[in-house]
Amino acid sequence: MDTSNKGFSSKLIHAGGITDEKGSAVTPIYQTSTFRFKNADQGARFFSGEEKGYIYTRLGNPTIEDLENTVAELEKAYGGLATASGMAAVNTVYQTLLGTGDHMIGHNALYGPSRGVMEKHYPKLGVEFDFIDATKIEEIEKVIKPNTKLLYLETPANPTMGVTDLKAACDLARKHNIITCVDNTFCSPYLQRPIEFGADIVLHSMTKFINGHADIVGGIVVARDKTLFEELKYVMINMGFNIDPHQAFLARRGLKTLAIRIDRAQKSAIKVATFLESHPKVEWVLYPGLKSHPQYELGKKQMDGPGAMISFGVKGGLEAGKKVMDNLKLAVLAVSLGGVETLIQHPASMTHSKLSKEARESAGISDGLVRYSIGIENVEDIIDDLEQALEKA
Ligand SMILES: *Cc1c(COP(=O)(O)O)cnc(C)c1O
Repeated sequence: MDTSNKGFSSKLIHAGGITDEKGSAVTPIYQTSTFRFKNADQGARFFSGEEKGYIYTRLGNPTIEDLENTVAELEKAYGGLATASGMAAVNTVYQTLLGTGDHMIGHNALYGPSRGVMEKHYPKLGVEFDFIDATKIEEIEKVIKPNTKLLYLETPANPTMGVTDLKAACDLARKHNIITCVDNTFCSPYLQRPIEFGADIVLHSMTKFINGHADIVGGIVVARDKTLFEELKYVMINMGFNIDPHQAFLARRGLKTLAIRIDRAQKSAIKVATFLESHPKVEWVLYPGLKSHPQYELGKKQMDGPGAMISFGVKGGLEAGKKVMDNLKLAVLAVSLGGVETLIQHPASMTHSKLSKEARESAGISDGLVRYSIGIENVEDIIDDLEQALEKA
């Protein structure tokens, strides 16, 4: 059905636009690598683009398209490309926009491997980069060069929760003919739609909030316009970054409950952050929903809610933080985020351990920082769990 005039939650359920010939109420899993042509001429027409039809799953598949169309509509984009992982989405963007002699600017506190792969692999391809504190627009401006092709942002950033002014950053990039890409994993389109502020490309690790059940790995890239979309698509399908139909089916199913999952987790996160901030053993809390957050006002302006991710430091640094992590019983000690279960992890020794200590420190990822992803359990249980673990720190 046409959901363009419907509300966000209705889009979550009904967008996608794929109808099944057999009348299946939800889009089935087209678990096939290839599609039968009616005759040789039809095959030729599909290949030439004269007629739209499915050819081969790496190039397109109805189950995958349902997911791609839905996320694109939620993000107010022209089109979407689902990928095998969030990192495949990141590399689709890097490979499409950057080549020998090109320069990219990235926020310094990105998801670890999004920065790591740029620093370690892309110099071999002749790509230059600067990682700076993009929460300060003047820091972006300072490193813009004539060969800058990409501004790569993440807001709120992983794991420092720094918020970048999307409108100001996108305006600045556009003035210099630079493409802006925003990793919107922490917010999901329910809480933030970067294209509304001028972003050209948005990507997600669907492993997190979009799927929401910690049972698949997947990613997606969406583009504001057709030209950019076609360029990204060429790279995605020819690099073989594509998702599998079964994975896509699970992500599309998980996506249906995005709004109610986030509503619940966010409500709890506000209570948990307030609890942590008033706890005598907690040194600091970074959560965009607390007035103490350095970009609290900006977060309120560009996000529809503060989300379900909290970073905090326990008094006594890493050793005390480890005590808390080891004593939590309800929260799972595991990386990843955005699932229905509450997770805790330690970026300096886990997700961001491949970055140098200097890179971590200049990005604000201190050794004492622990990252908490609030799930949808009863909030009393989440807080009780934290309380007993903090007691032991
Ligand atoms: C997890 C994550 C990624 C990478 O996604 P994968 O699905 O693990 O490849 C990228 N960005 C952010 C913000 C993430 O949290």
